[in-house]
Amino acid sequence: MQSEVERLLNAAARDISKTAGNLKVLEQLKVNYLGRKGNLAQLFKRMGEATETQRPVWGKLLNEAKESLEKAFSNALEEAGKLSREQRKFFDITVPGRRPSKGRLHPITQITLEISRIFNWLGFEVVEGPEVELDYYNFEALNIPRDHPARDMQDTFYVSDDVVLRTHTSPLQVRVMEKRRPPIRVIAPGRTYRCDSDVTHTPMFHQVEGLMVGEDISFGDLKGILTIFVHHMFGADVGLRFRPSFFPFTEPSAEVDIQCVMCKGQGCRVCSQTGWLEILGSGMVDPEVFKMVGYDPETVTGFAFGMGIERIAMLKYGIDDLRLFFENDLRFLRQF
Ligand SMILES: [Zn+2]
Repeated sequence: MQSEVERLLNAAARDISKTAGNLKVLEQLKVNYLGRKGNLAQLFKRMGEATETQRPVWGKLLNEAKESLEKAFSNALEEAGKLSREQRKFFDITVPGRRPSKGRLHPITQITLEISRIFNWLGFEVVEGPEVELDYYNFEALNIPRDHPARDMQDTFYVSDDVVLRTHTSPLQVRVMEKRRPPIRVIAPGRTYRCDSDVTHTPMFHQVEGLMVGEDISFGDLKGILTIFVHHMFGADVGLRFRPSFFPFTEPSAEVDIQCVMCKGQGCRVCSQTGWLEILGSGMVDPEVFKMVGYDPETVTGFAFGMGIERIAMLKYGIDDLRLFFENDLRFLRQF
């Protein structure tokens, strides 16, 4: 028994030094030696084989072995604990730093800036106006009087009888013309509001209004400017067409379609098999609007257009759900 106890103690000392102060390994090792089914317990079991004279000798040997093992493990564990505390304090200056995550512009902002950049280059100035707007600028001055059926087309947020959240960016046409004399070339990007919410409508959305007024501005200028815009926005090979339409504040009016960016005009689900996608409304400024701002419709002409920025962004990036723009899901936003 003496030699077996010595072997056990030697093996334990060897194993402890092999753990190199690893706390977890040491704790497991302690169980292996001192646990209820451990190596020492196996030796204790053999007390049953001891003769009357061996019994006290073995008992003493085993109890001493137990004490010395317990001491060895508690020393080793204490050392290991100190070591790991020191390791935690250790600061490795060679570890690369954490990069601060870089913010980026929302896709709607990016598209707004791109539209602005194209029109800036065409000589248009960017202007802004109030989102809480007088009924007069939102409707009245745009040839949409109180009893005009066009008001039914607009699901308007009324703040009071005379104040609304603007339903389009068109009030800027009137505000700019009131303050300035022709020639005028401006675009007005911004938020607009309507009581509307489903897969393709949100109560708040973005539009860009454009206005060009001067002597001899013709429908040809309108077509030219918008064609240049479309080709810069969607590519020089994208076809476009002008379709007769109606707006109270332009006459004549036209909606502009571009060749479907998904199917290149072949016909698909996005374009309802037509090969065309509507992207904006436009027209020659109605003489009635010029009269409202004190311009002489006999001497000046001009055109105006308006488009939804979300619509442009969806077509440009191939996004099929409007709501993605407003959910602020970083997995979505990080792609732009
Ligand atoms: Zn298509």
